[in-house]
Amino acid sequence: MAIYHAKDDGRGTFRFFREQMTERVKRRLGLQIGLREALARNELVLHFQPIVELERGKLLGAEALVRWNHRERGLVPPAEFIPVAEDIGLIAPLGEWMLNEACAQAAKWATAGGRKPFVAVNLSARQFQEGSLVSVVQRALARFGLAASQLELEITESILMQQTERTLQVLNEFEALGVKLAIDDFGTGYSSLGYLKRFPVSTLKIDRSFLRDVSRDEDDRAIVAAVMAMARSLALTVTAEGVENTEQVAFLRVHGCDQVQGYLYSRPVPAAEFERLLQKPVLSGLSVVGEQAA
Ligand code: C2E
Ligand code: CA
Ligand code: CA
Repeated sequence: MAIYHAKDDGRGTFRFFREQMTERVKRRLGLQIGLREALARNELVLHFQPIVELERGKLLGAEALVRWNHRERGLVPPAEFIPVAEDIGLIAPLGEWMLNEACAQAAKWATAGGRKPFVAVNLSARQFQEGSLVSVVQRALARFGLAASQLELEITESILMQQTERTLQVLNEFEALGVKLAIDDFGTGYSSLGYLKRFPVSTLKIDRSFLRDVSRDEDDRAIVAAVMAMARSLALTVTAEGVENTEQVAFLRVHGCDQVQGYLYSRPVPAAEFERLLQKPVLSGLSVVGEQAA
């Protein structure tokens, strides 16, 4: 067990065995067994977190975030089970389910003003290694009659850095379909400027770690300002993630950020609740709704 932990942390290192390691392995084993049945049992559920236009508070769309409604443990967060699903080769069927469910919901959405909001779906690196990702997306759009322009796929910088030729081909096919692409957690990976030019990306999502102390931390201010200036000159849309307070909003306004997402506007909420939010003329960011703080 100690060897596994050492390998997890990269080679050329060592770990002493500790009792917690047994606990971690047991938990993981439990998740593995349950996860294989979760889909069939309808235990997975998508919540939707509004993405809001900063300037006027218009609700533009939502990010679909998966939760696992576990019979004994309640709502299990994705950070706990997505990596397990990736490890045991279950992310392809899970990812396909999430994509289909997100498209099914988004096909029903319309604002009071008749606008059609978009849905953003997270993709795992592993899903890119499957040959069929593009046809999975095409089938989901066709099945629910969702316009390609209403779908945004969120990918991480690490996806762009690995097997770049194949990835480029897949992303070009998405672009040809009219599906938008966003880079998730921007700034936490390689942040190579070269790939921003090379890949058909339309949106950068600035990771929330840079926003957290943006009203106090000079370095974070500089990073966020630089990312926004760069995005503007490359004609990319910027979404700030993890917006929790009005100081952050003030800073983002000064730097011309386009879109915001965070607890200040709304937590991720179940589909029915998101449909109610669509009927509001604006999300002002003054009332917090949805999932209770953990
Ligand atoms: P992410 O894509 O960066 O998703 C944003 C996470 O930030 C979500 O956590 C969301 O609840 C949280 N968040 C939103 N606003 C705020 C805020 O103002 N403050 C703070 N502190 N947090 C905020 P969640 O739902 O637990 O998701 C965690 C990660 O799990 C996601 O990070 C994403 O990488 C992964 N994930 C979620 N759903 C899916 C999915 O359907 N497919 C794949 N492949 N990954 C998913
Ligand atoms: Ca995301
Ligand atoms: Ca993110």
